[in-house]
Amino acid sequence: NNKFFVGGNWKCNGTKDSITKLVSDLNSAKLEADVDVVVSPPFVYIDQVKNSLTDRIEISAQNSWVGKGGAFTGEISVEQLKDIGCKWVILGHSERRHVIGEDDQFIGKKAAYALSEGLGVIACIGEKLEEREAGKTFDVCFEQLKAFADAVPSWENIVIAYEPVWAIGTGKVATPQQAQEVHAAVRDWLKSNISPEVASATRIIYGGSVNGGNCAELAKQEDIDGFLVGGASLKGPEFATIINSVT
Ligand code: 13P
Repeated sequence: NNKFFVGGNWKCNGTKDSITKLVSDLNSAKLEADVDVVVSPPFVYIDQVKNSLTDRIEISAQNSWVGKGGAFTGEISVEQLKDIGCKWVILGHSERRHVIGEDDQFIGKKAAYALSEGLGVIACIGEKLEEREAGKTFDVCFEQLKAFADAVPSWENIVIAYEPVWAIGTGKVATPQQAQEVHAAVRDWLKSNISPEVASATRIIYGGSVNGGNCAELAKQEDIDGFLVGGASLKGPEFATIINSVT
Protein backbone atom coordinates (compact mmCIF):
# COMPACT_ATOMS: atom_id res chain seq x y z
CA ASN A 1 0.00 0.00 0.00
CA ASN A 2 1.18 3.48 -0.86
CA LYS A 3 1.48 6.16 1.77
CA PHE A 4 -1.79 8.06 2.00
CA PHE A 5 -1.65 11.61 0.59
CA VAL A 6 -4.19 14.29 1.43
CA GLY A 7 -4.10 17.74 -0.13
CA GLY A 8 -6.23 20.73 0.76
CA ASN A 9 -6.84 22.97 -2.23
CA TRP A 10 -8.01 26.28 -0.81
CA LYS A 11 -8.61 27.67 -4.33
CA CYS A 12 -9.31 31.41 -4.45
CA ASN A 13 -10.64 31.57 -0.87
CA GLY A 14 -9.59 33.16 2.40
CA THR A 15 -8.39 36.35 4.03
CA LYS A 16 -5.47 37.00 6.35
CA ASP A 17 -7.88 36.55 9.26
CA SER A 18 -9.65 33.40 8.10
CA ILE A 19 -6.31 31.82 7.22
CA THR A 20 -4.87 32.67 10.64
CA LYS A 21 -7.78 30.74 12.17
CA LEU A 22 -7.47 27.81 9.75
CA VAL A 23 -3.72 27.50 10.38
CA SER A 24 -4.28 27.57 14.12
CA ASP A 25 -6.90 24.79 13.81
CA LEU A 26 -4.51 22.72 11.69
CA ASN A 27 -1.64 23.29 14.13
CA SER A 28 -3.69 21.91 16.99
CA ALA A 29 -5.26 19.00 15.08
CA LYS A 30 -4.17 15.47 15.85
CA LEU A 31 -3.09 13.92 12.55
CA GLU A 32 -2.30 10.29 11.81
CA ALA A 33 1.45 9.93 11.37
CA ASP A 34 1.40 7.80 8.26
CA VAL A 35 -0.11 10.38 5.90
CA ASP A 36 1.50 13.00 3.70
CA VAL A 37 -0.43 16.23 4.20
CA VAL A 38 -0.23 19.26 1.94
CA VAL A 39 -2.20 22.51 1.82
CA SER A 40 -2.44 24.83 -1.13
CA PRO A 41 -3.19 28.44 -0.22
CA PRO A 42 -3.66 31.26 -2.74
CA PHE A 43 -0.24 32.62 -3.77
CA VAL A 44 -0.57 35.82 -1.74
CA TYR A 45 -1.00 33.91 1.52
CA ILE A 46 1.68 31.25 1.02
CA ASP A 47 4.27 33.21 2.97
CA GLN A 48 1.86 33.78 5.86
CA VAL A 49 1.02 30.07 5.94
CA LYS A 50 4.64 28.98 5.63
CA ASN A 51 5.58 31.18 8.59
CA SER A 52 2.78 30.00 10.87
CA LEU A 53 1.87 26.42 9.92
CA THR A 54 3.45 23.37 11.53
CA ASP A 55 6.23 21.73 9.45
CA ARG A 56 4.15 18.54 9.64
CA ILE A 57 2.17 19.93 6.70
CA GLU A 58 3.82 20.83 3.41
CA ILE A 59 2.81 23.65 1.13
CA SER A 60 1.71 23.49 -2.47
CA ALA A 61 0.99 26.21 -5.00
CA GLN A 62 -2.16 26.07 -7.11
CA ASN A 63 -0.35 26.86 -10.35
CA SER A 64 3.08 27.82 -11.66
CA TRP A 65 4.60 29.46 -14.72
CA VAL A 66 5.70 27.12 -17.50
CA GLY A 67 9.38 28.13 -17.50
CA LYS A 68 11.95 30.36 -15.91
CA GLY A 69 10.63 33.66 -14.57
CA GLY A 70 11.05 36.98 -16.34
CA ALA A 71 8.78 39.25 -18.33
CA PHE A 72 5.53 37.35 -17.73
CA THR A 73 3.14 39.80 -16.12
CA GLY A 74 0.92 38.25 -13.51
CA GLU A 75 2.69 34.89 -13.38
CA ILE A 76 4.55 33.21 -10.51
CA SER A 77 7.65 31.16 -11.25
CA VAL A 78 8.66 27.78 -9.87
CA GLU A 79 11.86 29.40 -8.56
CA GLN A 80 9.79 31.90 -6.56
CA LEU A 81 7.61 29.12 -5.18
CA LYS A 82 10.68 27.24 -4.00
CA ASP A 83 12.09 30.45 -2.54
CA ILE A 84 9.09 30.83 -0.22
CA GLY A 85 9.07 27.19 0.79
CA CYS A 86 6.64 25.40 -1.53
CA LYS A 87 7.30 21.71 -2.10
CA TRP A 88 4.42 21.00 -4.50
CA VAL A 89 2.30 22.48 -7.25
CA ILE A 90 -1.17 21.49 -8.44
CA LEU A 91 -1.27 21.36 -12.24
CA GLY A 92 -4.08 20.61 -14.67
CA HIS A 93 -6.85 21.34 -12.21
CA SER A 94 -10.21 21.31 -13.97
CA GLU A 95 -10.78 24.97 -13.13
CA ARG A 96 -7.57 25.84 -14.95
CA ARG A 97 -8.44 23.57 -17.85
CA HIS A 98 -12.08 24.48 -18.28
CA VAL A 99 -12.50 27.95 -16.76
CA ILE A 100 -9.12 29.47 -17.64
CA GLY A 101 -8.53 27.42 -20.79
CA GLU A 102 -5.18 25.68 -20.26
CA ASP A 103 -4.62 22.79 -22.65
CA ASP A 104 -2.93 19.41 -22.26
CA GLN A 105 0.34 20.48 -23.88
CA PHE A 106 0.73 23.63 -21.79
CA ILE A 107 -0.05 21.67 -18.62
CA GLY A 108 2.46 18.97 -19.59
CA LYS A 109 5.18 21.57 -20.11
CA LYS A 110 4.41 23.13 -16.73
CA ALA A 111 4.69 19.72 -15.08
CA ALA A 112 8.01 18.98 -16.76
CA TYR A 113 9.44 22.34 -15.72
CA ALA A 114 8.24 22.12 -12.11
CA LEU A 115 9.69 18.59 -11.78
CA SER A 116 12.98 19.64 -13.33
CA GLU A 117 13.27 22.28 -10.60
CA GLY A 118 12.48 19.79 -7.85
CA LEU A 119 8.84 20.54 -7.06
CA GLY A 120 6.40 17.67 -6.64
CA VAL A 121 3.44 17.79 -9.01
CA ILE A 122 -0.18 17.01 -8.17
CA ALA A 123 -1.34 16.18 -11.69
CA CYS A 124 -5.11 16.50 -12.09
CA ILE A 125 -7.29 14.66 -14.58
CA GLY A 126 -10.99 14.08 -14.90
CA GLU A 127 -14.00 13.98 -17.18
CA LYS A 128 -16.93 16.36 -17.51
CA LEU A 129 -20.49 15.18 -16.97
CA GLU A 130 -21.32 15.01 -20.68
CA GLU A 131 -18.16 13.00 -21.30
CA ARG A 132 -19.12 10.50 -18.59
CA GLU A 133 -22.63 10.25 -19.98
CA ALA A 134 -21.22 9.63 -23.46
CA GLY A 135 -19.12 6.75 -22.10
CA LYS A 136 -15.87 8.65 -22.64
CA THR A 137 -14.58 8.77 -19.06
CA PHE A 138 -11.57 6.53 -19.66
CA ASP A 139 -10.74 8.12 -23.04
CA VAL A 140 -10.66 11.59 -21.52
CA CYS A 141 -8.62 10.55 -18.49
CA PHE A 142 -6.13 8.57 -20.59
CA GLU A 143 -5.66 11.45 -23.02
CA GLN A 144 -4.92 13.83 -20.14
CA LEU A 145 -2.57 11.26 -18.59
CA LYS A 146 -0.78 10.76 -21.90
CA ALA A 147 -0.11 14.49 -22.14
CA PHE A 148 1.62 14.35 -18.75
CA ALA A 149 3.43 11.15 -19.71
CA ASP A 150 4.69 12.61 -22.99
CA ALA A 151 6.11 15.63 -21.17
CA VAL A 152 7.70 14.30 -17.99
CA PRO A 153 10.94 12.30 -17.71
CA SER A 154 9.98 10.52 -14.48
CA TRP A 155 6.92 9.79 -12.31
CA GLU A 156 8.82 9.75 -9.04
CA ASN A 157 7.55 13.12 -7.83
CA ILE A 158 4.02 12.98 -9.22
CA VAL A 159 0.75 12.32 -7.45
CA ILE A 160 -2.22 11.82 -9.78
CA ALA A 161 -5.50 13.41 -8.70
CA TYR A 162 -8.62 12.01 -10.32
CA GLU A 163 -11.25 14.72 -10.05
CA PRO A 164 -14.41 14.16 -12.07
CA VAL A 165 -15.53 17.66 -13.04
CA TRP A 166 -19.17 16.92 -12.20
CA ALA A 167 -18.18 16.14 -8.61
CA ILE A 168 -16.15 19.29 -7.98
CA GLY A 169 -17.87 21.82 -5.76
CA THR A 170 -21.26 20.26 -6.50
CA GLY A 171 -21.80 18.15 -3.40
CA LYS A 172 -22.22 15.21 -5.81
CA VAL A 173 -19.37 12.94 -4.75
CA ALA A 174 -18.45 9.98 -6.96
CA THR A 175 -19.53 6.72 -5.35
CA PRO A 176 -16.69 4.63 -3.97
CA GLN A 177 -17.31 2.19 -6.87
CA GLN A 178 -17.23 4.93 -9.52
CA ALA A 179 -14.01 6.33 -8.11
CA GLN A 180 -12.37 2.92 -7.67
CA GLU A 181 -13.23 1.97 -11.25
CA VAL A 182 -11.40 4.98 -12.67
CA HIS A 183 -8.48 4.71 -10.24
CA ALA A 184 -7.97 1.07 -11.23
CA ALA A 185 -8.12 2.02 -14.91
CA VAL A 186 -5.55 4.77 -14.38
CA ARG A 187 -3.25 2.32 -12.61
CA ASP A 188 -3.69 -0.12 -15.48
CA TRP A 189 -2.88 2.61 -17.96
CA LEU A 190 0.34 3.39 -16.07
CA LYS A 191 1.20 -0.29 -16.06
CA SER A 192 0.80 -0.68 -19.81
CA ASN A 193 2.18 2.69 -20.86
CA ILE A 194 4.86 3.51 -18.29
CA SER A 195 5.86 0.51 -16.18
CA PRO A 196 4.49 -1.89 -13.55
CA GLU A 197 6.77 -0.22 -10.96
CA VAL A 198 5.39 3.25 -11.65
CA ALA A 199 1.84 1.87 -11.65
CA SER A 200 2.17 0.41 -8.19
CA ALA A 201 4.22 3.22 -6.64
CA THR A 202 2.25 6.22 -7.90
CA ARG A 203 -0.33 7.64 -5.53
CA ILE A 204 -3.73 8.13 -7.18
CA ILE A 205 -5.91 10.38 -5.06
CA TYR A 206 -9.57 11.28 -5.46
CA GLY A 207 -11.08 14.77 -5.48
CA GLY A 208 -14.62 16.08 -5.84
CA SER A 209 -16.95 16.84 -2.90
CA VAL A 210 -14.93 14.82 -0.41
CA ASN A 211 -16.04 15.60 3.13
CA GLY A 212 -15.85 14.30 6.67
CA GLY A 213 -18.86 12.08 6.08
CA ASN A 214 -17.96 10.35 2.81
CA CYS A 215 -14.17 10.02 3.12
CA ALA A 216 -14.08 6.76 5.08
CA GLU A 217 -15.87 4.64 2.45
CA LEU A 218 -13.78 6.13 -0.34
CA ALA A 219 -10.55 5.58 1.61
CA LYS A 220 -11.29 1.85 1.83
CA GLN A 221 -11.11 1.40 -1.94
CA GLU A 222 -8.07 -0.50 -3.08
CA ASP A 223 -6.76 2.06 -5.56
CA ILE A 224 -7.62 5.26 -3.67
CA ASP A 225 -4.39 6.51 -2.06
CA GLY A 226 -5.72 9.74 -0.62
CA PHE A 227 -7.71 12.85 -1.46
CA LEU A 228 -7.57 16.30 -2.96
CA VAL A 229 -10.08 18.33 -0.99
CA GLY A 230 -11.58 21.70 -1.87
CA GLY A 231 -14.38 23.14 0.26
CA ALA A 232 -13.95 20.82 3.22
CA SER A 233 -10.25 21.72 3.50
CA LEU A 234 -11.24 25.23 4.59
CA LYS A 235 -12.47 23.80 7.88
CA GLY A 236 -9.58 22.56 10.04
CA PRO A 237 -11.39 19.89 12.07
CA GLU A 238 -13.15 18.43 9.02
CA PHE A 239 -9.91 18.38 7.02
CA ALA A 240 -8.29 16.53 9.96
CA THR A 241 -11.11 13.94 9.84
CA ILE A 242 -10.38 13.39 6.15
CA ILE A 243 -6.64 13.02 6.79
CA ASN A 244 -7.36 10.53 9.55
CA SER A 245 -9.59 8.40 7.32
CA VAL A 246 -6.42 6.55 6.22
CA THR A 247 -7.03 2.81 6.55
P1 13P B 1 -14.46 20.28 -3.71
O1 13P B 1 -13.89 19.38 -2.64
O2 13P B 1 -14.87 21.63 -3.18
O3 13P B 1 -15.50 19.58 -4.52
O4 13P B 1 -13.24 20.58 -4.71
C1 13P B 1 -12.47 19.53 -5.17
C2 13P B 1 -11.30 20.07 -5.86
O5 13P B 1 -11.41 20.64 -6.93
C3 13P B 1 -9.98 19.92 -5.23
O6 13P B 1 -8.95 20.29 -6.10
